[in-house]
Amino acid sequence: MDLVCLEQKEFADYIPYIDQGVLEEINYLAGELKGKRVAMINATSFGGGVAEKLYALIPLLKDLGLQVDWWVLEGSCEYFQVTKLFHNALQGQEGSLSDTEIEIYRRNSALNAAHMKNWDYDFIVCHDPQPAALIDLCNGLRQRARWIWRCHIDTSSPNPEYWDFLYHYIRQYDAAIFTMRDYVSAEAALPQLTLITPSIDPLSSKNRMIEPEEAAAMIRRFGVEQDRPLIVQVSRFDPWKDPLGVIEAYKMVKKEFPSVQLVLVGSMATDDPEGWDHLYHTLRRAGEDYDIKVVTNFNGITNTEVNAFQTAADIVLQKSLREGFGLTVAEALWKGTPVIGGNVGGIRLQIEDGVNGYLVDTVEQCADRILTLLRNPALAHDFADLGREKVRREFLVTHNVLAYLRLLQKLQFRPQAHSSAH
Ligand code: UDP
Repeated sequence: MDLVCLEQKEFADYIPYIDQGVLEEINYLAGELKGKRVAMINATSFGGGVAEKLYALIPLLKDLGLQVDWWVLEGSCEYFQVTKLFHNALQGQEGSLSDTEIEIYRRNSALNAAHMKNWDYDFIVCHDPQPAALIDLCNGLRQRARWIWRCHIDTSSPNPEYWDFLYHYIRQYDAAIFTMRDYVSAEAALPQLTLITPSIDPLSSKNRMIEPEEAAAMIRRFGVEQDRPLIVQVSRFDPWKDPLGVIEAYKMVKKEFPSVQLVLVGSMATDDPEGWDHLYHTLRRAGEDYDIKVVTNFNGITNTEVNAFQTAADIVLQKSLREGFGLTVAEALWKGTPVIGGNVGGIRLQIEDGVNGYLVDTVEQCADRILTLLRNPALAHDFADLGREKVRREFLVTHNVLAYLRLLQKLQFRPQAHSSAH
């Protein structure tokens, strides 16, 4: 496993965003947990929402006095292919778990567990299915530390075979965090079930305020014209994000609004081997239409450019068919850009249909809502104010800091939930 290097952040810089009562509770809990050692483990430090959330959260927990390390799993390409299957299956994709997949998953988990022999942490937080089995492979550490499993996926209707396999591990944890109650099956007997919505860092290079002119200047080099309407979707190339549906909706809009431009911004995450196939598929669907741009980290897209695209867009789409949370929605709302999101998962927590954005179920509906917003700039303006305030109240990283501190505090005084599941 590899340790991730993190930039330093100062909690004091975030105080202007926090209500007094929340600030007092954070300071109290941080005092109680001072010096506690926490390991966060996930599959990648680049691309996708989990990495984004950890970059935002961990430096603040450290500045508040906890000793937090972020570890990234090692694994063969076939291991990440298998864990991507787990991810898809937990989101409901059909298919059967093969003995070979189980063997690859267990073998790579054991290789990672071997790195943990001399670990000495008070809390170990495993994110998503990739590290879930580690608890079963670290005997001594299982007794010494409190273990938390954090699920970032929409598991409201998982493929039962994959869920049952993972459940064997998950039920051994001392606590399980999900984004929404709907994601937890009624039959699952999970100890210390905790609901935490993800959040964004308002001061990061991705979310700090930039002027519209600065944003427009930054995206010009990707061939985007400033005086024409711009629709943007920022997401991995993944069928659940429905990039092909986005292109179809754009084509419908284009017939009535010929000047419209579409940019699909996507990163190629290291734990997502399918991403390239989906990128090529998306490029084929875009075809010869030069008003569709597809740009990635390989064209120089960093957090700053993502910020610029989300700021400069007239409309941000997140037309997902399944979505654990959808950080890109909070990111765009925070910038005052109107968002149209798929009517699924965590997007529904962020967008109140017709109040601060639109929720859509079909390509046609998506095209229709784009046209409504392009024709009514005043409506877009109203959405912007309400969207930004919603994010300030519910989805800034300071809320996550408080939620994690509350959980760690609860766990440190609780007897372990399962010393053994066997
Ligand atoms: N992201 C990025 N560059 C890209 C595509 C995505 O930085 O080209 C970021 C995006 O801004 C967001 C995260 O990756 O912070 C995606 O998180 P989300 O919850 O929307 O989806 P996930 O990838 O976790 O399914």
